[in-house]
Amino acid sequence: MNIAENRQIAEIHHYIGGTVQRAATDRFADVFNPATGEVAARVAMGTADDVAAAVAAAKAAWPAWAEMPPLRRARILFKFKELLDRHHDDLAALITREHGKVFSDAKGEVTRGIEVVEFACGIPNLLKTDFTDNIGGGIDNWNLRQPLGVVAGITPFNFPVMVPMWMFPVALACGNTFVLKPSERDPSPSLLIADLLKQAGLPDGVFNVVQGDKTAVDALLAHPDVQALSFVGSTPIAEYIYTEGTRHGKRVQALGGAKNHLVVMPDADLDQAVDALIGAAYGSAGERCMAISVAVAVGDVADKLVPRLAERAAALKIRNGMEDDAEMGPLVTAAHKAKVEGYIARGVAEGATLVTDGRGHKVDGHDNGFFVGGTLFDNVKPDMTIYKEEIFGPVLGVVRVHDFAEAVSLINAHEFGNGVSCYTSDGGIARAFARQIQVGMVGINVPIPVPMAWHSFGGWKRSLFGDHHAYGEEGVRFYTRYKSVMQRWPDSIAKGAEFTMPVAK
Ligand code: NAD
Repeated sequence: MNIAENRQIAEIHHYIGGTVQRAATDRFADVFNPATGEVAARVAMGTADDVAAAVAAAKAAWPAWAEMPPLRRARILFKFKELLDRHHDDLAALITREHGKVFSDAKGEVTRGIEVVEFACGIPNLLKTDFTDNIGGGIDNWNLRQPLGVVAGITPFNFPVMVPMWMFPVALACGNTFVLKPSERDPSPSLLIADLLKQAGLPDGVFNVVQGDKTAVDALLAHPDVQALSFVGSTPIAEYIYTEGTRHGKRVQALGGAKNHLVVMPDADLDQAVDALIGAAYGSAGERCMAISVAVAVGDVADKLVPRLAERAAALKIRNGMEDDAEMGPLVTAAHKAKVEGYIARGVAEGATLVTDGRGHKVDGHDNGFFVGGTLFDNVKPDMTIYKEEIFGPVLGVVRVHDFAEAVSLINAHEFGNGVSCYTSDGGIARAFARQIQVGMVGINVPIPVPMAWHSFGGWKRSLFGDHHAYGEEGVRFYTRYKSVMQRWPDSIAKGAEFTMPVAK
């Protein structure tokens, strides 16, 4: 690209202390429209100074925000929710432009984010705690849940609206101030969100955005005024964030990658299982942490399942995500497309049966878009790379097993444990599956069991580092410190010093 072209392209900066702040850097990254392959914008790569400015703004805003009654904080969130409803399609269009997912799916993403705001609007009730009257002679004991201070969120490209909204509505409702470091691949929604929060009446400095990459993340990890970090992204980075963040004395929840299985029992309704697999494997081009990437076919079900999956995978409507009938859009970048195609080649080399090959897929009028077609492998084995690693693309592998017990042990042996699903018409099998499976989120005849805002989201094993799941009551626990207060008044105080352990009298 020459310099003249360069000047036409929008620049995306930070949002600090209630206004857009130009970055103190000349380091920028390209943001693509994945459907066309064109550069849509350039995003500033934040420096440690930018992070320091955002944290300072958040720290200055914290005392007044923490002191504001939860009911008044909730009223700002109610107003924010109203504005989100009004700008629902604007946010969804920004997602599609920079991420590539189809517009209807982007609208669903916004809705799932709004639900967390609806949950957080209940904060006066959520912060209620326990009180015991007269727990000792003349002594009452109760608990408080108090905010932590400045907290930060670091988020992935695949849900540029929903995943930040897993974090900041609950963090703000609890009385914390927030610094968001969004993905550099699709940063625009973060600035519209900041603007809507301001319009809703959020005081300046309570919500800040620093754009960037590892440099900004490392500055957040090391900053002594950041009390807690929420991270969502790939497992190697999640592990790094958890190790570094806790080493710096911070509270950390770090949600990582996944390899989600869907078990098809011989007694399952096959039409429903096929629909579930097609939607969950190829929706959002497989770029979902809860996407199904492995079908576990039990008994003889694979012989009926595979031809039907192949037919549907080949017929997917793959388009620019803004087109009305699009079912699947492009991948996020050319580099990611190359990585996914590399996995397909590896699957072939390691001996899996390539039933439908999505490599080289072309979409009319979008020659430079980052498209990969729906891809299906059969006879995938547990020692193959395409089984062990997260591909994060439209690639579904079928593993054939003899029985239910083999399906459960296969899944329990995998290093990831984010989501899982079982299709069956047998209540006993469903119950045993939900109880025995070592995975954080389980669906019974539900392909993508992402918990609603009132239930918390989190995987097991190497899909989550830390103790708390995201949003819901787990979110309230993560973003507050628990305090116990014991109180008595002079007329109940015994005379003289007590040298033994106090006990109830
Ligand atoms: P990523 O790990 O590459 O990036 C996530 C965030 O970390 C981004 O903000 C990025 O700027 C930052 N980052 C990247 N490299 C870094 C480094 N070396 N040091 C410090 N920070 C760094 O993930 P992604 O590609 O944006 O997102 C896809 C991944 O996220 C997939 O693995 C997917 O499974 C996972 N994911 C998980 C969940 C979940 O809830 N478990 C949800 C969504 C996505």
